[in-house]
Amino acid sequence: MNNSLKPETLCVQGGWQPTKGEPRVLPIYQSTTFKYDTSEQMAKLFDLEESGYFYTRLQNPTNDAVAAKIAALEGGVGAMLTSSGQAANFYAVFNICQAGDHMVCSSTIYGGTFNLFGVTLKKLGIDVTFVDPDASEEEIISAFQPNTKALFGETMSNPGMNVLDIEKFARIAHGQGVPLIIDNTFATPINCRPFEWGADIVTHSTTKYMDGHATCVGGVIVDSGNFDWEAHADKFPGLTTPDESYHGLTYTKAFGKMAYMTKATAQLMRDLGSIQSPQNAFLLNLGLETLHLRMPQHCKNAQQVAEWLEANEQVAWVNYPGLKSNKYHELAQKYMPNGTCGVIAFGLKGTREEAIRFMDNLKMICIVTHVADARTCVLHPASHTHRQLTDEQLIEAGVAPDLIRLSVGIEHAEDIIADIKQALNQ
Ligand SMILES: *Cc1c(COP(=O)(O)O)cnc(C)c1O
Repeated sequence: MNNSLKPETLCVQGGWQPTKGEPRVLPIYQSTTFKYDTSEQMAKLFDLEESGYFYTRLQNPTNDAVAAKIAALEGGVGAMLTSSGQAANFYAVFNICQAGDHMVCSSTIYGGTFNLFGVTLKKLGIDVTFVDPDASEEEIISAFQPNTKALFGETMSNPGMNVLDIEKFARIAHGQGVPLIIDNTFATPINCRPFEWGADIVTHSTTKYMDGHATCVGGVIVDSGNFDWEAHADKFPGLTTPDESYHGLTYTKAFGKMAYMTKATAQLMRDLGSIQSPQNAFLLNLGLETLHLRMPQHCKNAQQVAEWLEANEQVAWVNYPGLKSNKYHELAQKYMPNGTCGVIAFGLKGTREEAIRFMDNLKMICIVTHVADARTCVLHPASHTHRQLTDEQLIEAGVAPDLIRLSVGIEHAEDIIADIKQALNQ
């Protein structure tokens, strides 16, 4: 399919391209395995000499169609679905880092990723230095070491809503000979395509806006195909030297621009699993078909709610990049001129207990461990998603202890505001 089609068209028609007599709608290939006529045909697949399906842990046609749609939306050369956003971020890093390696990462990233990198990767021997994403280039560069293999950040941080200067991060990464990995979950490719600003690899928790209906946990990794692994061959031996588990095949030589994605699929997914179920991929695809309609509504509603909150005297502060008063407004205008997303961070005047009482008083808006779906919901990160973090880590992560994360849905803005108003009045 022509990948220069507009995002709206790719949302609806990308990925699945049926030919004569095939189902118009992407089918669920609910099969673990695939048939071949000869043993020889299958052997070639195992040796990566030919591409084809043989076992769903490695590849499945439903998943591949959805991955192809997301790759087209991001402007990448290939993509792989994973069972969750956590798995996507883990694989994106583990595909190029091994024990003894190091990574530099924005400190304001999502709490789950912060734990994955700061605690679990450390146990695997991969060290991470967290940096303030708003620090100067010199300061961030000073965190790099000879064994640094990647720079990582989020387009917009969950839940602080800091907007990343992607071009600055890309300049730093490339100056140090490493790729820039961007978690683009909150912006989605409808509002920002990080590859256009120099990012090399993009990840998503598809659980959020892409699915959009809070039905399936999932993730995706997309590669731009732009990073020149061979030019930094000594840094990335996993891609540029023979893989003994495939008879000494070298990914960069055998697959060129598809080296990174092929290794992620043929090696990491083969060995570690964490594939997205084809059933979930099917539901994710239904979500993607309306992503371009839902994102503008999330942004429009969130803008109205943020402006209302900002004008309310019970509200201490509001962090929404769409507000003119916002520290990140200018960066948001540059990277996301059509709007950012539906997530607003704010704090109330008064005590932490009063903030919790406000959330308990909401009627239509529910307290859920979720964000970025059709229904407006609310969460107090310091008591919920980020409760493992110390106060110091909370502040480093851009999460004020009084921060309320409001994920504005696609209902009518007046009904959302009315619910907030009645809860504040109690
Ligand atoms: C939710 C989230 C994740 C983790 O994704 P799961 O699908 O919950 O595993 C990663 N990054 C960001 C920005 C998220 O919001």
